[in-house]
This record gives sequence, C-alpha cells and structure tokens, in this order.
Amino acid sequence: MKAAIFKSIHTAPGWFLQIEDVPRPQLEAGHVLLRVVACGVCRTDLHIVEGDLPAVRPQLIPGHQIVGEVVEGATAELPLGTRVGVSWMGGVDGDCWYCHHGMENLCDKPTFTGYTVDGGYAEYVLVRTDFTFPLPAGLDDVHVAPLLCAGIIGFRSLRVAGVEHGERVGLFGFGSSASLAITILQSWKCEVYVVTRGESHRNLAVSLGATWVGKEDEKPPVALDRAVTFAPSGKVVVSALASLRKGGVVAINAIHLDHMPIFDYDKLLWGERQIRSVANMTRQDARDFLTIAQTLNIHPQVTLFPLNDANKALLAVKEETEHGSAVIVP
Ligand SMILES: [Zn+2]
Ligand SMILES: [Zn+2]
Repeated sequence: MKAAIFKSIHTAPGWFLQIEDVPRPQLEAGHVLLRVVACGVCRTDLHIVEGDLPAVRPQLIPGHQIVGEVVEGATAELPLGTRVGVSWMGGVDGDCWYCHHGMENLCDKPTFTGYTVDGGYAEYVLVRTDFTFPLPAGLDDVHVAPLLCAGIIGFRSLRVAGVEHGERVGLFGFGSSASLAITILQSWKCEVYVVTRGESHRNLAVSLGATWVGKEDEKPPVALDRAVTFAPSGKVVVSALASLRKGGVVAINAIHLDHMPIFDYDKLLWGERQIRSVANMTRQDARDFLTIAQTLNIHPQVTLFPLNDANKALLAVKEETEHGSAVIVP
C-alpha cells in the first residue's frame, strides 16, 4: 500500500513525510483492517513531525481522524464494508485506576493512533475493533473525518471548561476544533468571543456567526465565563485567563504548549479562576459528540489533499492557511 511515513531522524528543521510503498498491515486478533477513505489532519500530527512530542518509533504513519471501511476482521457488529471512524485514542489497557474510574482518557498504558501505532495517512490501517465508532449518516466521508479528533476533543474541552447554557465563552485560536465547537455553543445559546491570529480563521469565525472576533492582541469586550484555548501557546492561555470573570475557567485544548509565561497570581488567578488541561478523550465523549453532530447537522468546511500532498496538508495547518479542516484522501 501507499503511505506517508514520518522518519524521526528527519525531525525539524526540514521535516517531511516520505510517500512510500509499504506492506499492508496483517490482521491481528481484536482488530479490524480498514481501507482508508479519508483522514483528517490535526495539529497534533504537526507536533509529532516537528518533534514537539517525543518520537516513540523510528518510523511512523501519522493520522488519527480516520474514516475507513472494514475489509478484514469483520464481526457481527461490524460486517464487511461497514464505514467506521477512528480517533486519537487507539486503545487502553482497561485495567488501570483511571480505566476503572471512568477516566480512560487518562489511562496509564494507552495507545495513540498515528503516534504509538500507525495511523491513517495510508491506504489501509489496522485498528482495535473496540475503538472504532459508527458514523452519523448524512455526512460524507471527507466531512465526517474532522469530527473524529477536532470535533470530539473540542467537545470534551467544552465539558472540561464546564460551559453552561447561555454563558459567554471565549475561543482562543480558531482552527478545525474551534470551528466545530462554535456550532455546539450556539445551540446552547452561548455568546461566542473568538480571538485568533490567522486572518482566514477570523473570517471563518465571522462567517460562522461569532458574537465578536478579534486579533491575538485584542481582549474581548466583556468578561468571559469560560474560555478554551486551542493555540499551542502559553501566552494565549494567559490572555484567556485575563479575559475571565471571577470564578471563570480556562480549558487548554493543546497537547503541547511552547511554554507557560510567568503571570500575576493576584490579578489573574485569584478570585477562584481556574486553569484546566484537556487530555485525550473517552469513547463516551466520541459517541456523545457524534450524536450531537448528527442532531445539529454539523458540517465542517474542508480542504482536500491527495495522499501524495500530505506535506502540503501539514504545512497548511502550520501556516493556518487551511480553510476549515484539512483532509487527506488516499
Ligand atoms: Zn488530534
Ligand atoms: Zn487504563
């Protein structure tokens, strides 16, 4: 099969994926082999190839927003040809303290799709059967792909931030994940304040009906109840914190931050303001979000790239030039 492969020896500067022919994965017990029909590009893929996340394998196929159809390993629940989605959580041990307490997103021995195991920048991918999700009808393959990490983890971020009906919510950064979360916030009658660097991202926020949109150095005109940060920048977390009312919460939806600047406790955190991080996702988050996405008819804007252009897709995410969500179509 054809695959886009990251070799950790090529970590930045000058990172790139190599398009190569490699053997198709062999079926293993408890797994299904999928023919990949679409794979969304996530900022985490960029963190992997840029070395922000430590390399755990000498070579790897990235990609963890996979839409595929079952071609081997079919079961009664997943007959041949079934269309399923696969996300960042590729598996858990099911046996640690976190798994036993409903927090499988924090499992001590997880596998991550497209990081600790091969992902979907390829024509085929082997995945754990119990970490596949049925997909909403009514959304085609390329439009459902960005829901699988950007959508699910964006949704989890709203939960972690504790967003309630009608609140004022800030979205700091407006890539794929935030552009999906805004629809849910609007359905909850929230006011949505967007602060983001990229001009195309600001335009997208305006077109999606944000209450207010500003540049990265601008402060929302009202004190926020909740904020979610999507940019991989500690400075942005501090800006979000500075925009909160007393008792407000910032949830950080970023697997990696450049660094956390020193900030003034008395002015920014005092008054029961809180900072929380968002780590991974549970299968329940995935099922809940996919149900909501179907109900709200969430329909992401996508920019498509053939597998041969996987590097261009990553670059579009890096430079924030992609419109909506970048999706690779093998
Ligand atoms: Zn992701
Ligand atoms: Zn566990």
